[in-house]
Amino acid sequence: MDDCGYVMAGTALLLMIPALIVTAMMLSLSEANSDMKTERTLSASVEGAAWDIRDNIPIITREILNETAWEVINGTIPEGDVRELVRGRVQERVDRLCMSHRNINASCRVNSVEGTEDPFQVEVNSTIEIHGGDIEHAENISVRVTVEGLPDPLPFRVLGRPEHSATSIEYGDALRGYLDSKGVDGEAYVNATGPLIIRRCPYEPYSCHGLEGLHACILNGYYHESRDGACYLCRLEGKTSCPHMGLETFIIPSVDVGEAPVSIDHVLFNETYNGEALNVSGFIIYLDGGHRTKYGVETP
Ligand SMILES: [Zn+2]
Ligand SMILES: [Zn+2]
Repeated sequence: MDDCGYVMAGTALLLMIPALIVTAMMLSLSEANSDMKTERTLSASVEGAAWDIRDNIPIITREILNETAWEVINGTIPEGDVRELVRGRVQERVDRLCMSHRNINASCRVNSVEGTEDPFQVEVNSTIEIHGGDIEHAENISVRVTVEGLPDPLPFRVLGRPEHSATSIEYGDALRGYLDSKGVDGEAYVNATGPLIIRRCPYEPYSCHGLEGLHACILNGYYHESRDGACYLCRLEGKTSCPHMGLETFIIPSVDVGEAPVSIDHVLFNETYNGEALNVSGFIIYLDGGHRTKYGVETP
């Protein structure tokens, strides 16, 4: 090889060095790039999982409340603390949901299922924790679920298994028998009827019912807020009254006997007191002064 050859080889070597450096830089860049991509994918997965859990807790809770209410109605509810049963069932379903997010580690602890100051809503409190690579996400969430559209389990807890259709309960002789067993004359409540499904009464304030509002309310089987009535979770447990903000609805008697136990569910299921007959477009109900004032009908 002559001198020229060495020069050529040397130059080529010198030229290769920057090329190598550039290649190395590009390689490390693309590595960093793919790290960033993984990071981005993970952070999207973590965020997606958080949304998924947040969105599904109310759906799951409503389904569990519905299933549990039907178990009460059909007499297949397991013994024990119903609130804890509901919470545990929601937890089980949420665990399954968390496991479906495979590339990350998601968990959600359902801390409580409880009533709220609005008796038509139940609140679920939980803590979500999600890890994906170096990304950590933790939050406490509190969501509300409506009980509207769910069946009312209380009459079935109190009276065993009265007949029901898709929307109403046919009390047959059950309510009369129950009242008689408490030493109260239940004659007016032979073949009484009442709503099965919880529906929020739209006549607000309640004092604007009047006879016309009461008629619509009876036909539709609406429920109302009541301090004296039991809340939905207590209804599931068979409590006829509770310290929480609760619900009340009308149970419609079949006979006009002038004066009879007041036609409000918690009055009939608890300590009964009498009211005078009120003709609401052909329906006879018995109301005391307090409930007449509440629903805006005149005291006789
Ligand atoms: Zn109403
Ligand atoms: Zn309650």
